[in-house]
Amino acid sequence: MDNCIFCKIIGGDIPARKVFEDEKILIIEDVSPQAPLHLLLLPKKHFANCLDMTPFDDDVAGYALRKGGEIARSNGYAESGFRIVQNNGAGAGQSVFHIHFHLLAGREFAWPPG
Ligand code: AMP
Repeated sequence: MDNCIFCKIIGGDIPARKVFEDEKILIIEDVSPQAPLHLLLLPKKHFANCLDMTPFDDDVAGYALRKGGEIARSNGYAESGFRIVQNNGAGAGQSVFHIHFHLLAGREFAWPPG
């Protein structure tokens, strides 16, 4: 989609530090990390957030969560725990309106989140 920074990263028009890529998803390092490990799980299909999902997108979300778990485990965070979060709307902290999940690990996490 035009003017979507994550679509441009997925398309290779903007550089990013890639961790994993296949036909469904791109995983990159967050440019402003909030934990020792802070990755963004970017489904390649553009939709803004949960509000724009269709039934065809259910597998995309499930796949992103599973890949997030694999990446967390491969980085040694299976035992210590990690967090996968996804913001919906500016009021919840969403700043890029292309569906994405944050994978955060390597520090203590408070609950409820701020
Ligand atoms: P959110 O606020 O949930 O929409 O998350 C957007 C995230 O994208 C933030 O954590 C930003 O630091 C991150 N971000 C924005 N632009 C880039 C970029 N060019 N490369 C990597 N991460 C980015």
